[in-house]
Amino acid sequence: MIVDRQGRRFRNLRVSLTSACNYACTYCVPNGKRLVAAQDELSAEAMARGVAYLIEAAGIERLRITGGEPLVSPKLETFMTAVGQMGLEDISLTTNGQLLAKKLPLLVNAGIRRINVSLDTLDPGAFRGIARGGDLATVLDGMEQARAAGMKIKVNMVPLRGQNLDQVMPLLDYCLERGYELRFIELMRMGHLASDSNTFLQQFVSLQQLLSLIGERYEYLQANAPVDATAVRYQIPGLGHFGVIANESVPFCRTCSRLRLSSTGWLHGCLSSSNRHYVGDLLDKPRHQALPSLQRLLVKALGDKQEVAFSGGATVMKIIGG
Ligand code: SAM
Repeated sequence: MIVDRQGRRFRNLRVSLTSACNYACTYCVPNGKRLVAAQDELSAEAMARGVAYLIEAAGIERLRITGGEPLVSPKLETFMTAVGQMGLEDISLTTNGQLLAKKLPLLVNAGIRRINVSLDTLDPGAFRGIARGGDLATVLDGMEQARAAGMKIKVNMVPLRGQNLDQVMPLLDYCLERGYELRFIELMRMGHLASDSNTFLQQFVSLQQLLSLIGERYEYLQANAPVDATAVRYQIPGLGHFGVIANESVPFCRTCSRLRLSSTGWLHGCLSSSNRHYVGDLLDKPRHQALPSLQRLLVKALGDKQEVAFSGGATVMKIIGG
């Protein structure tokens, strides 16, 4: 097992299945252009082999499938079928929900029981303005169908001053009523926001600001969360839970256990580092040839983690999937 001086190791793997996306969210894709799959994307088989090798070489226990938008990828079924047989503790998926209803039978058959749906507003006009693709009613219907199929749903919202701050309470109520756990994600200095402090600061909403807003209506208590959780969790007694992924306000680098594999075969040990390590070529090799090289790259990737706090990164979320 590869462990660093702070006792951190890779336990959670996020695989970006494709960089293609059917949205072009303002904070993720500043030029508004629809993202397409990179030409050099790995096959579903190679990516699944990557997961198998990383389970062995790094001790990965939990997998999250992300993107781009994972549900637009033709690799989804083959990849999920393969990783479903690897004995992982947990497999989950992050999606914008646009194709959720269509792909639900596939997800259920593959054993996916937990999904995160990104949803920044319940207002159809604001939705079009932020996501720049898709349709709000289709997402809400997809979530309803997933809930009826027994899936546990978390909703990810990035609060943005001037764009959707008025949606914090409506979304919280919507989620509490339906048993979805709302996760607010503090805006991260990723991609264009890493070099454009003005835009970042104009839009950023902090944990404290969110709690003040919620505290005007509800009493809440801090709730338990796993030691390497990214979210600070709160309970609203009798109603449910919500969480805040507070990169800026409560950095979680000291306990970060995440490793990311991009759709083009790069390993990222840290979102805040521009270092990345190419493993695409190793995934075509048999296990005994691939693992020693992979171990060396994993040591480097673990060394890329920040000591204390996330300081921003040129890496774009659209490629690496959050
Ligand atoms: N397409 C999928 C989705 O919409 O969930 C997966 C990929 S998306 C990049 C993953 C998550 O990253 C989304 O919840 C999105 O809101 C979030 N995200 C993207 N850029 C971000 C930023 N700069 N700060 C905070 N969250 C961001």
